[in-house]
Amino acid sequence: MGSKPFASSTDLAPKVEEFVTLADGVHALTAEGDPNVGAVEAEDFLVCFEARATPAAARLWLDRLRERTDKPVRYLVLSHYHAVRTLGASAFDADVVVAHERTRALIAERGEQDWDSELGRMPRLFLEPDTIPGLTWPTMTFSDRLTIPLGGDRGDLELRYLGRGHTAGDVVGWLPQQRILFAGDLVESRAALYTGDAFHDEWATSTLDNVAALGAEVLVGGRGAVARGRAEVDAAIAQSRHFLDELRRTVGTVHGRGGTPREAFEAARAALAPRFGGWPIFEHCLPFDVQRYWDECDGVDWPKIWTARRDREVWAALQ
Ligand SMILES: [Zn+2]
Repeated sequence: MGSKPFASSTDLAPKVEEFVTLADGVHALTAEGDPNVGAVEAEDFLVCFEARATPAAARLWLDRLRERTDKPVRYLVLSHYHAVRTLGASAFDADVVVAHERTRALIAERGEQDWDSELGRMPRLFLEPDTIPGLTWPTMTFSDRLTIPLGGDRGDLELRYLGRGHTAGDVVGWLPQQRILFAGDLVESRAALYTGDAFHDEWATSTLDNVAALGAEVLVGGRGAVARGRAEVDAAIAQSRHFLDELRRTVGTVHGRGGTPREAFEAARAALAPRFGGWPIFEHCLPFDVQRYWDECDGVDWPKIWTARRDREVWAALQ
């Protein structure tokens, strides 16, 4: 068992990217389970959602976007602090980098360690890592809601904080007029959930309730294909909730009876693999997911910092 390759370190095959236009001026790029990105056109500027892992990787997305529009990027929105979604920010030349206030605090607290950790876990996403100039610092933060008027008849883009979930500071991008939601990693569509920095109980209950209450008709999750129509949107939210519920049930049961993290991992894997085992990053995420919920059961509210070293220790202990 010890020979199982670490995280996604051996997942090196390029993914097929799909550029989709979801409504007039609303675009997304999905990539077979790699992190999704999006863009919303205002009358005379762009709002980009997520930055990718490196400036070189971001430029590939911007090249596609520039086939549709040459508007300048006024806002770059970071849905949360994870390196694969933030370190490409410099390529956007954005006037403003927006995030939740806790995302800025998390970058200050653990941005360097997270960069090392994610580079080790998912090297393929870090195209030309030497192009990263340093950590990405949000230049504007908010705590609850930030509304960006798009001008003309385009309506508003609402950046909303819906509760703790995938991290302590996730935000979503919501277009109430178009009923399109960029959900960040709070919802995945046919991809496994990474919960190593999560608040499982809150995410699986009130936070996902708040996501569902928006009533989106199109949902771009953090990974996976775009969900179109209420049935697919509801299914993506339900799938994310089910993954969390099964993780909480299995790990919580083993913890409650005085078992070990390794037994919890086996129980979680047995429950989740039949439905999620073939989906992107399932094997990669599960040890980190189990360890974080185990910590929560131990009463650790604020997630422990993942370092490249702790990653390997937990991987070895649970597999
Ligand atoms: Zn993330």
